[in-house]
Amino acid sequence: MKSKAMVLEQFNKPLSEREFDIPPLPEDGILVKLLASGVCGSDLHMAKGEDPRTPLPIILGHEGVGEIVQINGRKRDLNGEELNVGDWVIWDRGIVCNECFWCKVAKQPYLCPNRKIYGINLSCKDYPHLLGAYSEYMVLFRETQMIKVPKSIDPASIVLAGCSGATSMHGFDTLTEPLIGKTVVVQGAGPLGVFCVVAAKSLGASTVVMVSGTKQRLDLAKEAGADLLINRHESSLEERIAILQNLTHNRGADVVIEASGSSNALLEGFRLLRRGGTYLVTGVAVPQQCIPVDVYQDIVLKNIDLKGVWVSDARHLVQAVDLVIRHTKIFEKLVTHRLPLSQANEALRLVEERQALKVVLTFQ
Ligand SMILES: [Zn+2]
Ligand SMILES: [Zn+2]
Repeated sequence: MKSKAMVLEQFNKPLSEREFDIPPLPEDGILVKLLASGVCGSDLHMAKGEDPRTPLPIILGHEGVGEIVQINGRKRDLNGEELNVGDWVIWDRGIVCNECFWCKVAKQPYLCPNRKIYGINLSCKDYPHLLGAYSEYMVLFRETQMIKVPKSIDPASIVLAGCSGATSMHGFDTLTEPLIGKTVVVQGAGPLGVFCVVAAKSLGASTVVMVSGTKQRLDLAKEAGADLLINRHESSLEERIAILQNLTHNRGADVVIEASGSSNALLEGFRLLRRGGTYLVTGVAVPQQCIPVDVYQDIVLKNIDLKGVWVSDARHLVQAVDLVIRHTKIFEKLVTHRLPLSQANEALRLVEERQALKVVLTFQ
């Protein structure tokens, strides 16, 4: 049996279509046939050589949903359900060692220094080769955390649960107080930001404010439950600060979530946040230029909780999948483009030109 895959062989060059022999499965490994593969902003950074984790050559794709075609042994999902051939599954993109300080002592497995990540730091030159989701088939190691996905769901709508969705839930998971009655600002209405809107409303936030520069994206954020939309290009920073002050008895937002992918957003976010508020930085996922921070005014005097959010673990994947399953309509709408695997380069272009909200590679 063979599998076609789109391979990044050189940075800043188009992906090449390659055919791989499907290898014998590792012990307790699982072979899945992809149903949908999400194209993430990180893939674009990787293709440009901006993500220091990228080995070459690599099959990109760390967001996948697939149908199990072969299991070498027995396997249960994160809900304890036995997995069988024919089941649809989504998986945690990362596999951790369960032996290091972060896995065992700190209980922060997302920081495991030995974390292997499908489509991000596993090269296709190494056995079992099919380790990214821009491929017809993928081999999943026994340690992979999986969740069975109901067949009533559109696989394209749920892929983001495996990356931006889970990262978003990681951010919310760190909050020490419930969101009930709170005002939340989300910066950036891409897939991560829209996910944050749905999550914040589900967790009880009374007012969710979306700040974005794109009308189409703002419209979707509204459908996702945002109470107030602010177009960055049609307002000044001072106006946005005034809007937040008016909404919050002159305090500012209780929680600000950076979901734009830009470090610069923090300079605004600090101003929108109230004293004693919490800032979740979830979108900045590759090295960027430093920003000038007024440590006294923005961090210390305000006594804020500034929280960097790096990737996610199995718990966050469970939460993200649950959220998508309960809000399928909005996540289906988020998928603006569906392309076949062979058009992965076009898919990356759509993401780069910001013409798309979520681009998903789909399979027959
Ligand atoms: Zn991603
Ligand atoms: Zn570890």
